This record gives sequence, C-alpha cells and structure tokens, in this order.
Amino acid sequence: MKNVAVLGATGSIGASALDVIARHPDRFRASVLGAHRRVEELAALCARFRPDLAIIADAALERSLREKLAAAGVPTRVASGSDALREAAAGPLCDTVVAAIVGAAGLESTLAGARAGKHVLLANKEAVVMAGALLLDALRSGGGRLVPIDSEHNAIFQCLPPEHRDLAACGVRRILLTASGGPFRGKRREELATITPQQACAHPNWVMGRKISVDSATLMNKGLEVIEAHWLFGAAPAQIDVVVHPQSIVHSMVEYADGSVLAQLGNPDMRTALAHALAWPERVDAGVAPLDMFKIGRLDFEAPDRATFRCLDLAYAALSAGGTAPTVLNAANEIAVAAFLEGTLPFLAIAEVIEETLTAVPAEPQTTLDALIYADLTARREAQRIMRRAFC
Ligand code: NAD
Ligand code: MG
Repeated sequence: MKNVAVLGATGSIGASALDVIARHPDRFRASVLGAHRRVEELAALCARFRPDLAIIADAALERSLREKLAAAGVPTRVASGSDALREAAAGPLCDTVVAAIVGAAGLESTLAGARAGKHVLLANKEAVVMAGALLLDALRSGGGRLVPIDSEHNAIFQCLPPEHRDLAACGVRRILLTASGGPFRGKRREELATITPQQACAHPNWVMGRKISVDSATLMNKGLEVIEAHWLFGAAPAQIDVVVHPQSIVHSMVEYADGSVLAQLGNPDMRTALAHALAWPERVDAGVAPLDMFKIGRLDFEAPDRATFRCLDLAYAALSAGGTAPTVLNAANEIAVAAFLEGTLPFLAIAEVIEETLTAVPAEPQTTLDALIYADLTARREAQRIMRRAFC
C-alpha cells in the first residue's frame, strides 16, 4: 500500500491524482491532502478519502476546516501553513508525494519530500525551474526517486532506458518536446492585443488550472518545460527542441543516435501520467479511454512561432544564462500572469514584463536556497514596479 500525500489536492492535477487513487484502493491511499484556500472542497475530499492529515495553507482558514470536519464526523487531523506542508511532505504519514501545488509556493514542500527520500511525483514544474540543482541534490541525498507528471516529461521518462543517468551514454541525440501551440496557434501578434483571460484559459485539448492555461497560451509553459527537461534528464539546451503538435496525442519524443525516434502516445488526459507515476514501475488502469487511431486520423507537426510567442526564447535565454536567471524568469512570469488574470495587464505585455525583469535583475551564479528565494522576491518586486510604470 502506498501512502500518498497529494499537495494541491483541490486543483486540476490533484483531482486527477485522487481519481486514480480512488480506482485502486488496494494499492494507494490518500494519507495527506493539502490545499491553499478552498476549505469547502478540502473538507469534501477529506470526507471522501479520510486522510490522516489535511493541511490548509492559509492559516486563517484552519478553524473553519476543523469545524467542518468535526460537523461531518471526519476524524482527519488538521494543520495549516506552509511549514505544515513541508513537514508533511517529509514526515512519516506518506511515502509518496504528489507535488501539485502551482507556482513557487510548491518549492519548499517539493524539496522537503525529495530530501526525505520520498517517491516524488512532480507536477509543480515551477519548483524545478526555480531550483533544479537543489532539487537534484535533495533527491541524491534523500535517496528518493522522482517520476515526472508533466505529460511531456512523463513521456520522455517512458522513452528513455530505465536507469538513464547520462543521455550520451544512452545514445540519445535529442529530446523533442511537443506543444499543442495553445488556443492562439496560428494567430498573428496584432490579433493577440485584446485577448481576455477567458479566451486564454480556453485550451483546445487540456483542462487545467488558470495559471498553466495562460502559460500554454503564451508558450511560456513550453519554455518552463525546456528548463524542466534540462534538469530532469541532463539535456543541454541545444539538445531540446520544441515541436508544435496540435492534436496533443504524441506527448513527446526521444531521438537516438541510430535515427530511432521513440514517442509516447495517449489521449490528452493527465490521469495516464499520474497512473504511470503512482504505479511505476508497474502499470495500472487510469480510467482513460483507449486511443482510437482511426478517429484521430492524422498527426500534424510544425515549428513554433517564436516571433509571436516570445516567452519560449526568453526561457531558453534564461536557461543559458543559468544561476538565478530561471528563478527570475519564473517569478516575473507568475506576477505578470496573475496581473493578466486580474485584468490589469494586456496579454502581449506578459513577455515584455518578463524580458524587462530579466534585464533589471541580472543573473547571479549562486544557487543556494537563500539566494534563490532572494532572487525570487527581488524579481517579483521588480516585475510589479515595471508593470506599474509601463502598463497598469
Ligand atoms: P490548479 O490551479 O488547478 O491547482 C493548484 C493547487 O495548488 C490547488 O490545490 C491550490 O489549492 C494549491 N495551491 C495554490 N497556491 C498554494 C499555496 N500558496 N500553498 C499551498 N497550496 C497552494 O493548478 P493545476 O493545473 O493543478 O497545476 C498544478 C501544477 O501542476 C502546476 O505547477 C502546473 O504547472 C503543473 N501541471 C499541471 C498540468 C495540468 O494538466 N493541470 C499539467 C502539467 C503540469
Ligand atoms: Mg506539460
């Protein structure tokens, strides 16, 4: 029986994880559930899954959660705050951590799970973008294993040999990250000036949280994934190519020295990656419909439009700059996307804010946790200042 901490339980990935867990009560148990502010939803999940511990990150809501659980006769213990998330990820109540908090808020619990030797199922790509080297160190020192949940990285993981330590030694030439192209694929820059949050969040193939939906629309999601692939698979930036594939059936590919290209295919449903990672190295039913090749009919591939969707190149540049640059990129993106979702920043200004923040906060080589947290805070302040001055 695997005891699973689902951190980010009320989100889109959290729901997919809990769906797979519920299908296999003989294998998996949701022992810890964590969420930010959605008390009602967290209480309902506790009533259904009966975890040992429920954590609400916003401490002001702890009492409300406690009262709701008591009223429903649910015996789950309650804790609050980011310290509680970190302690639970490292503590004895779980052996597996689904890192599904969105944004930098997930960094410390992800690191704590890795340091404690847990089986880390990583959806929280911002954590690896911010602190890739630290996460790898934590995994090494803890002796735990990371299986990626992000569909592209999960696909690459499946296409690589089991103990892939060194891409060159495995004969890997290139990683081909597929991208749907998002809701605005094929649009010209002028057509994007008046995009609303609702339009940006209407992804053609995937149903996801609002932040990652906007990231998909700007192609920053793919940029973050390039950085994620660099750290998770030890690939140099020049070894990672982005291929737009509008059907989202091929989740990514690995090209080998002999010319073979291995791909992982499936319907665009995150439960496949979650079932794979939860059961790994075994396979279990994910509740996902089988792939109907005749219905799909064709698979298309094209180059990304890097001039219109500038965030992709900003991410490559931050990866090449190294040090704190990816942390700054991620922080500026989080601030700009939040402002766009609030309706105070135009869609096209997201890339501008990120670019200006990268110029205003030069990369520092050191990547201790303190240095990264400082870079993250500095970049957030700088991005706010840039937005106030130029856009809001
Ligand atoms: P979401 O917005 O649906 O859910 C986010 C979850 O994080 C919620 O449970 C929320 O309560 C929690 N959370 C937010 N801020 C928090 C805080 N400060 N402290 C504690 N918890 C907090 O997002 P999502 O789409 O499920 O994405 C989650 C992560 O997975 C992101 O990093 C995203 O990039 C990644 N991811 C998502 C998908 C997808 O299909 N949704 C695919 C690949 C990767
Ligand atoms: Mg992805």
